[in-house]
Amino acid sequence: MILIRNLYIGIDDTDSPDGMCTTYLASQIINKFKENGINLTDYPRLIRLNPFARHKTRGNGGVALKILDDDNAGLAKEIVLEEVRKLSMFDCDNTNPGVIFYDGEITGEMRDYAFRAIYEFITIDEAEEFGRSVGCEIHKFKKGRGIIGSIAAISLPLDDFTYELLAYRAPENFGTERQIDYESVYEMDKKTFPDTFENVDYSENYIAIEPKTPCPVLYGIRSNTPDALKDAKNIVKVKEPIDDWCIFKTNQHTDMHIQNASQISGMKQFGCYRVKGKVKNRPKIIDGGHMFFCIGDESGEIECGAYEPTKNFRKIVSNLMPGDIIEVYGGIGEQNTFNIEKFQVIELNDVEYRNPVCECGKRMTSAGKNKGFKCKRCGRKLESNEKVPIKIQRDLKNTEFYETPVSARRHLSKPLCRMDID
Ligand code: ATP
Repeated sequence: MILIRNLYIGIDDTDSPDGMCTTYLASQIINKFKENGINLTDYPRLIRLNPFARHKTRGNGGVALKILDDDNAGLAKEIVLEEVRKLSMFDCDNTNPGVIFYDGEITGEMRDYAFRAIYEFITIDEAEEFGRSVGCEIHKFKKGRGIIGSIAAISLPLDDFTYELLAYRAPENFGTERQIDYESVYEMDKKTFPDTFENVDYSENYIAIEPKTPCPVLYGIRSNTPDALKDAKNIVKVKEPIDDWCIFKTNQHTDMHIQNASQISGMKQFGCYRVKGKVKNRPKIIDGGHMFFCIGDESGEIECGAYEPTKNFRKIVSNLMPGDIIEVYGGIGEQNTFNIEKFQVIELNDVEYRNPVCECGKRMTSAGKNKGFKCKRCGRKLESNEKVPIKIQRDLKNTEFYETPVSARRHLSKPLCRMDID
């Protein structure tokens, strides 16, 4: 029996807000591999990690490649390290690349480490100690923070996954305005959704496939299948050269960051959860356009926020009423507020308590604290202080999910079009 051994390569933290993208670096490495007869044995991976990691440039993504561990392995390592040295944004204080090579099987403890990198914070020392303990070859540049994400990127199991096609610009165009024909993006979305998704935010007229930073990416299209991506690429028209493109397998849009919380008090700051609770007060908008309300259960209460960038989602949230039972998905941020990514209505409170209606037809008003009600039209009085239940019409629906718009969506958030709902 011939034993096939793989070489896993993890790369992270090579870019800065001023440029570059670790996926671009990976695509350059893949090209150099091809020139040297080295082929990947699986799609390159783009793995999104803890959305609250402090030193992320944008979406906290690490990249992993898998090749055969054969006579070319030494050359492959040289190519990787040379490209990282050549293309990383070393001038930026926050860019601390890390590369790891690993030639064993991915073990249970490596998989656990990867989930920790999504749910928790890991230090560079911890990552280094762990990497060495499982036999990773570790290369740190500057502080080498990238090894945290590199080890996770090779180790994370992908039971649910999506794909992203990234088209790259010619270097002479980096930093200039992107030349994408927006009409063709709408056409692509109409023809390929829901096999592709997150292309356009119709409510904001926002083209989501176009990055807003000076990175080498011209556009990124996300999908459930590589075939749909190729169809989509054929539809999208651009008025500048596409230097290169590459399809990555990714944990984007899988909700992998979301942990089940059985009660509100069990959640921690900087964690992402789904949790059920009863709405305690009417959502209120504050200065800056952020909307807040509280949910509670027998263990405690938490403030939930739909922030200004979620735009029209706030209108939906404003329909929530005290007594509604909902399940919220999202993360607990800096201010200890639960930042909602989506929610499901479990049970709407469709009863409101109002003052009784007088025999003359007019709704009565309070006659004072504990003094019953009085009618302003005919003067009739009621001694009882009891309000009467009235069934009300609601704009929300039981069992329905409601999500933030594409323009405000997190990389890891699973959109409703990917959820198994009737
Ligand atoms: P891009 O998405 O454009 O590649 P980015 O947002 O991924 O940029 P990085 O340059 O990768 O930003 O920086 C994120 C840094 O955070 C990396 O050094 C990575 O190793 C580290 N990191 C990832 N997960 C964790 C974690 N759970 N705890 C602490 N650090 C982490």
